[in-house]
Amino acid sequence: MANFGTHISVAAGSGCVLALGGWHLGLWTPWQAWPLMLLTTLGGIMPDIDSDHSHSVRLVFGLLAFISTASAAWLLQARLDFGYWLMACAATYLMVRYLLAPLFKRFSVHRGVWHSLLAALFVAWTGSALSHGVLGQPAWLAWTHGTALLLGCLVHLTLDEVYSVDLEGMRLKRSFGTALKLFDYDRPWRAVVLLLLMAAMLPWLPSWQSLAAVGEQWLALWPQ
Ligand SMILES: [Zn+2]
Repeated sequence: MANFGTHISVAAGSGCVLALGGWHLGLWTPWQAWPLMLLTTLGGIMPDIDSDHSHSVRLVFGLLAFISTASAAWLLQARLDFGYWLMACAATYLMVRYLLAPLFKRFSVHRGVWHSLLAALFVAWTGSALSHGVLGQPAWLAWTHGTALLLGCLVHLTLDEVYSVDLEGMRLKRSFGTALKLFDYDRPWRAVVLLLLMAAMLPWLPSWQSLAAVGEQWLALWPQ
């Protein structure tokens, strides 16, 4: 059944295939490959983060807190004195873990807009924008990071659709056809909010030409 364990192992497996496959084909180095595996796994649990008591929520926000703290530590290292730097890192962790997570829970509905193709795209864009705009990764790699997240989300939605069960695997849901949806049809304004956020993200994304170049490079590898 597509419970939490299934989601995370299938996503990790898909991440391995992507990371190792691309490495084998010479698309990236081993050092660039392992974050792709992690991102695919993270993408694979993202759609369930809006269920208030799931493992996914704890794991995703734990992971997000860790990644944000590590990024803040790295970015602020040269700019702040040790004491302030330490406080900034602690503040980042506490903010994500104890402010962002409860806020997110408060405003989301399980299997709402978060569990949709639109949200999958939103997660992918966020990953690419952060990777390029904040962490300064090259455009092609930032798009690849986004693609890994997207792949994970798509694997999750497909699995849920295939199994049509609740994330904890406890009961069958009358949910067939609700997993792979474009957006939350019952609450369209949430989709509008996501679209507005995505529009706001546009300046932070790597160039579209670089995305096209990545696509062409991948297509060229396809057996003719
Ligand atoms: Zn799900």
